[in-house]
Amino acid sequence: MSTAVLREFRYGDERIAFSVRLRPARKAQRIAIHVEPDGRVVVDVPHEASETAVQAAVRQRARWISSQLTAVRERIDPARPRAHAGGESLLYLGRRYRLEVLVDEDRKGDVRLGRGRIEVAVGSNEPGRVRAVLDTWYRRRAGEVLAARLAALAPALHWVRTPPPMQLRVMKQRWGSCSPAGRLTLNPNLIKASRECIDYVLIHELCHLQAHHHGPLFHRLLDAQMPEWRRIKQKLDAWADELIPS
Ligand SMILES: [Zn+2]
Repeated sequence: MSTAVLREFRYGDERIAFSVRLRPARKAQRIAIHVEPDGRVVVDVPHEASETAVQAAVRQRARWISSQLTAVRERIDPARPRAHAGGESLLYLGRRYRLEVLVDEDRKGDVRLGRGRIEVAVGSNEPGRVRAVLDTWYRRRAGEVLAARLAALAPALHWVRTPPPMQLRVMKQRWGSCSPAGRLTLNPNLIKASRECIDYVLIHELCHLQAHHHGPLFHRLLDAQMPEWRRIKQKLDAWADELIPS
Protein backbone atom coordinates (compact mmCIF):
# COMPACT_ATOMS: atom_id res chain seq x y z
CA MET A 1 0.00 0.00 0.00
CA SER A 2 1.31 3.47 -0.83
CA THR A 3 0.22 6.95 0.06
CA ALA A 4 0.70 9.85 -2.35
CA VAL A 5 1.51 13.24 -0.86
CA LEU A 6 2.05 16.23 -3.13
CA ARG A 7 5.08 18.44 -2.43
CA GLU A 8 7.01 21.10 -4.24
CA PHE A 9 10.56 22.39 -4.41
CA ARG A 10 12.27 25.26 -6.15
CA TYR A 11 15.06 24.97 -8.66
CA GLY A 12 16.26 28.38 -9.76
CA ASP A 13 12.99 30.08 -10.61
CA GLU A 14 11.31 26.81 -11.40
CA ARG A 15 8.73 25.23 -9.08
CA ILE A 16 8.72 21.50 -9.41
CA ALA A 17 5.90 19.46 -7.92
CA PHE A 18 6.50 15.92 -6.81
CA SER A 19 4.54 13.25 -5.03
CA VAL A 20 5.89 11.16 -2.24
CA ARG A 21 5.04 7.49 -2.03
CA LEU A 22 5.62 6.03 1.37
CA ARG A 23 6.86 2.49 1.03
CA PRO A 24 7.36 -0.12 3.72
CA ALA A 25 11.02 -0.40 4.56
CA ARG A 26 11.23 -3.90 3.14
CA LYS A 27 10.24 -2.55 -0.31
CA ALA A 28 12.29 0.64 -0.35
CA GLN A 29 15.57 0.84 1.47
CA ARG A 30 16.46 4.31 0.29
CA ILE A 31 14.88 7.36 -1.32
CA ALA A 32 14.43 6.86 -5.06
CA ILE A 33 13.36 9.54 -7.54
CA HIS A 34 11.50 8.78 -10.78
CA VAL A 35 10.43 11.09 -13.56
CA GLU A 36 7.49 9.34 -15.23
CA PRO A 37 6.97 9.51 -19.02
CA ASP A 38 4.03 11.90 -18.45
CA GLY A 39 6.20 14.29 -16.45
CA ARG A 40 5.11 13.37 -12.93
CA VAL A 41 7.93 13.35 -10.42
CA VAL A 42 7.52 10.56 -7.92
CA VAL A 43 9.72 10.02 -4.91
CA ASP A 44 9.67 6.64 -3.22
CA VAL A 45 10.44 7.04 0.43
CA PRO A 46 10.95 4.43 3.13
CA HIS A 47 8.51 4.95 5.98
CA GLU A 48 11.14 6.00 8.47
CA ALA A 49 12.73 8.69 6.24
CA SER A 50 12.38 12.24 7.56
CA GLU A 51 10.93 15.20 5.67
CA THR A 52 14.38 16.78 5.74
CA ALA A 53 15.91 13.75 4.09
CA VAL A 54 13.28 13.84 1.32
CA GLN A 55 13.90 17.54 0.67
CA ALA A 56 17.65 17.00 0.64
CA ALA A 57 17.31 14.13 -1.83
CA VAL A 58 15.25 16.11 -4.36
CA ARG A 59 17.52 19.17 -4.03
CA GLN A 60 20.57 17.07 -4.61
CA ARG A 61 19.11 15.77 -7.85
CA ALA A 62 17.32 18.98 -8.85
CA ARG A 63 19.37 19.60 -11.97
CA TRP A 64 18.75 16.06 -13.19
CA ILE A 65 15.00 16.29 -12.47
CA SER A 66 14.75 19.61 -14.28
CA SER A 67 16.55 18.29 -17.37
CA GLN A 68 14.34 15.19 -17.41
CA LEU A 69 11.25 17.40 -17.28
CA THR A 70 12.53 19.50 -20.16
CA ALA A 71 12.99 16.35 -22.21
CA VAL A 72 9.48 15.18 -21.31
CA ARG A 73 7.94 18.51 -22.32
CA GLU A 74 9.71 18.42 -25.67
CA ARG A 75 8.58 14.86 -26.29
CA ILE A 76 4.97 15.34 -25.18
CA ASP A 77 4.33 18.48 -27.18
CA PRO A 78 6.73 19.02 -30.06
CA ALA A 79 4.48 21.89 -31.18
CA ARG A 80 5.80 23.79 -28.18
CA PRO A 81 9.50 23.46 -28.67
CA ARG A 82 11.99 25.19 -26.43
CA ALA A 83 13.54 27.29 -29.13
CA HIS A 84 16.95 28.60 -28.16
CA ALA A 85 17.05 31.99 -29.82
CA GLY A 86 20.69 31.56 -30.69
CA GLY A 87 21.60 31.49 -26.99
CA GLU A 88 21.85 35.26 -27.13
CA SER A 89 23.77 36.76 -24.26
CA LEU A 90 21.85 39.17 -22.03
CA LEU A 91 23.02 41.47 -19.26
CA TYR A 92 21.16 41.98 -16.01
CA LEU A 93 22.68 43.79 -13.02
CA GLY A 94 26.11 43.41 -14.55
CA ARG A 95 25.92 39.65 -15.01
CA ARG A 96 25.60 37.68 -18.19
CA TYR A 97 22.69 35.37 -18.85
CA ARG A 98 21.75 33.22 -21.78
CA LEU A 99 18.37 33.87 -23.38
CA GLU A 100 16.02 30.92 -23.59
CA VAL A 101 12.73 31.19 -25.40
CA LEU A 102 9.78 29.09 -24.37
CA VAL A 103 6.70 28.98 -26.59
CA ASP A 104 3.84 28.46 -24.16
CA GLU A 105 0.44 30.10 -24.52
CA ASP A 106 -0.36 29.62 -20.82
CA ARG A 107 2.77 31.40 -19.66
CA LYS A 108 3.20 34.04 -22.32
CA GLY A 109 4.75 37.25 -21.07
CA ASP A 110 6.40 35.40 -18.22
CA VAL A 111 10.10 35.98 -17.63
CA ARG A 112 12.13 33.84 -15.25
CA LEU A 113 15.62 34.46 -14.09
CA GLY A 114 17.44 31.26 -13.31
CA ARG A 115 20.92 29.88 -13.05
CA GLY A 116 22.78 31.62 -15.83
CA ARG A 117 19.71 32.01 -17.99
CA ILE A 118 16.75 34.26 -18.57
CA GLU A 119 13.75 32.33 -19.81
CA VAL A 120 11.17 34.27 -21.80
CA ALA A 121 7.76 32.72 -22.49
CA VAL A 122 5.89 33.85 -25.59
CA GLY A 123 2.58 32.77 -27.12
CA SER A 124 4.16 32.52 -30.53
CA ASN A 125 7.70 32.81 -31.70
CA GLU A 126 7.07 35.54 -34.24
CA PRO A 127 9.81 38.14 -34.68
CA GLY A 128 9.76 40.92 -32.14
CA ARG A 129 7.68 39.09 -29.49
CA VAL A 130 10.65 37.99 -27.41
CA ARG A 131 12.21 41.44 -27.56
CA ALA A 132 8.93 43.08 -26.53
CA VAL A 133 8.48 40.78 -23.53
CA LEU A 134 12.09 41.28 -22.50
CA ASP A 135 11.88 45.06 -22.81
CA THR A 136 8.78 45.15 -20.61
CA TRP A 137 10.49 42.97 -18.03
CA TYR A 138 13.71 45.03 -18.06
CA ARG A 139 11.70 48.20 -17.64
CA ARG A 140 9.69 46.85 -14.73
CA ARG A 141 12.82 45.57 -12.98
CA ALA A 142 14.51 48.92 -13.68
CA GLY A 143 11.62 50.78 -12.02
CA GLU A 144 11.81 48.59 -8.92
CA VAL A 145 15.57 48.41 -8.54
CA LEU A 146 16.29 52.07 -9.31
CA ALA A 147 13.58 53.28 -6.91
CA ALA A 148 14.93 50.99 -4.18
CA ARG A 149 18.53 52.15 -4.69
CA LEU A 150 17.42 55.77 -4.74
CA ALA A 151 15.61 55.31 -1.44
CA ALA A 152 18.69 53.58 0.02
CA LEU A 153 21.23 56.17 -1.15
CA ALA A 154 19.35 59.43 -0.65
CA PRO A 155 19.39 59.52 3.18
CA ALA A 156 23.23 59.63 3.21
CA LEU A 157 23.23 62.93 1.31
CA HIS A 158 22.60 65.79 3.72
CA TRP A 159 21.04 68.04 1.04
CA VAL A 160 18.41 65.46 0.11
CA ARG A 161 15.37 65.45 2.41
CA THR A 162 13.34 62.83 0.56
CA PRO A 163 14.19 60.79 -2.52
CA PRO A 164 13.34 62.96 -5.55
CA PRO A 165 10.64 61.93 -8.05
CA MET A 166 11.96 59.64 -10.73
CA GLN A 167 10.87 58.69 -14.23
CA LEU A 168 12.29 56.23 -16.75
CA ARG A 169 13.10 57.13 -20.32
CA VAL A 170 15.24 55.36 -22.89
CA MET A 171 17.91 57.82 -23.96
CA LYS A 172 20.62 57.18 -26.51
CA GLN A 173 23.26 59.46 -25.06
CA ARG A 174 22.78 59.54 -21.33
CA TRP A 175 22.17 57.48 -18.26
CA GLY A 176 20.30 60.07 -16.36
CA SER A 177 19.48 63.71 -15.95
CA CYS A 178 18.19 66.00 -13.26
CA SER A 179 15.69 68.76 -14.08
CA PRO A 180 15.98 72.22 -12.49
CA ALA A 181 12.88 71.29 -10.46
CA GLY A 182 14.73 68.26 -9.09
CA ARG A 183 13.10 65.45 -11.00
CA LEU A 184 15.38 62.61 -12.07
CA THR A 185 15.07 60.95 -15.46
CA LEU A 186 16.83 57.61 -15.60
CA ASN A 187 17.64 55.28 -18.46
CA PRO A 188 15.94 51.90 -17.87
CA ASN A 189 18.89 50.22 -19.61
CA LEU A 190 20.82 50.91 -16.42
CA ILE A 191 19.30 47.70 -15.05
CA LYS A 192 21.78 45.83 -17.26
CA ALA A 193 24.74 47.46 -15.51
CA SER A 194 26.23 46.35 -12.21
CA ARG A 195 24.90 47.70 -8.92
CA GLU A 196 27.93 49.93 -8.39
CA CYS A 197 27.40 51.51 -11.82
CA ILE A 198 23.73 52.07 -10.96
CA ASP A 199 24.72 53.66 -7.65
CA TYR A 200 27.23 55.89 -9.43
CA VAL A 201 24.60 57.25 -11.82
CA LEU A 202 22.13 57.80 -8.97
CA ILE A 203 24.67 59.57 -6.77
CA HIS A 204 25.80 61.66 -9.73
CA GLU A 205 22.22 62.81 -10.35
CA LEU A 206 21.55 63.34 -6.64
CA CYS A 207 24.60 65.64 -6.51
CA HIS A 208 22.96 67.69 -9.25
CA LEU A 209 20.17 68.49 -6.81
CA GLN A 210 22.75 70.61 -4.99
CA ALA A 211 25.02 71.62 -7.90
CA HIS A 212 23.40 71.76 -11.30
CA HIS A 213 26.53 71.93 -13.44
CA HIS A 214 29.66 69.85 -13.53
CA GLY A 215 31.66 72.50 -11.66
CA PRO A 216 34.01 72.32 -8.64
CA LEU A 217 31.18 72.10 -6.11
CA PHE A 218 29.62 69.20 -8.00
CA HIS A 219 32.92 67.30 -8.07
CA ARG A 220 33.54 67.99 -4.39
CA LEU A 221 30.17 66.48 -3.52
CA LEU A 222 30.64 63.49 -5.80
CA ASP A 223 34.21 62.83 -4.57
CA ALA A 224 32.98 62.93 -0.98
CA GLN A 225 30.09 60.55 -1.60
CA MET A 226 31.83 58.12 -3.93
CA PRO A 227 35.61 58.57 -4.01
CA GLU A 228 36.07 55.78 -6.57
CA TRP A 229 33.50 57.15 -9.02
CA ARG A 230 36.02 57.62 -11.89
CA ARG A 231 36.86 53.93 -11.99
CA ILE A 232 33.17 53.01 -11.98
CA LYS A 233 32.33 55.55 -14.66
CA GLN A 234 35.02 54.03 -16.89
CA LYS A 235 33.39 50.62 -16.54
CA LEU A 236 29.99 52.01 -17.36
CA ASP A 237 31.33 53.91 -20.40
CA ALA A 238 33.01 50.75 -21.67
CA TRP A 239 29.68 48.96 -21.51
CA ALA A 240 27.58 51.70 -23.02
CA ASP A 241 27.42 50.30 -26.54
CA GLU A 242 26.07 47.01 -25.30
CA LEU A 243 23.78 48.42 -22.63
CA ILE A 244 22.05 50.90 -24.88
CA PRO A 245 20.97 49.06 -28.02
CA SER A 246 20.87 51.22 -31.12
ZN1 LIG B 1 25.83 65.26 -14.67
